[in-house]
Amino acid sequence: MIYSIECPYCGEQVDLDGLWQDEEPNQDFEVECEHCNKIIMVEFEFPHFTAKKADCKNGGEHNWTEVSSSYFGKYQECFCGATKDKISKEEANKRFNDWVIQRDKEIK
Ligand SMILES: [Zn+2]
Ligand SMILES: [Zn+2]
Repeated sequence: MIYSIECPYCGEQVDLDGLWQDEEPNQDFEVECEHCNKIIMVEFEFPHFTAKKADCKNGGEHNWTEVSSSYFGKYQECFCGATKDKISKEEANKRFNDWVIQRDKEIK
């Protein structure tokens, strides 16, 4: 079975064969269009592929949305996987440990 998607930039078919097999199921991945050399984000929900424009991968701005996580707090995330204002895992752990110490103090 040959998988291909239509490039959202130039409309040509982009062959995905051999590209997605290494990817984890249901993970987005990026592909360079061989016709216009633009980067396309491919949404992969087996067995469907959806091509999305990835302007931020082609010299444009990231498209930030706010994400709120109990572990990392609030930060900005782009659909391409880039993040902004996201604290590191170490920092998140440290904040959690500080919180536990503080809580134990209050209990005593
Ligand atoms: Zn193209
Ligand atoms: Zn982006």
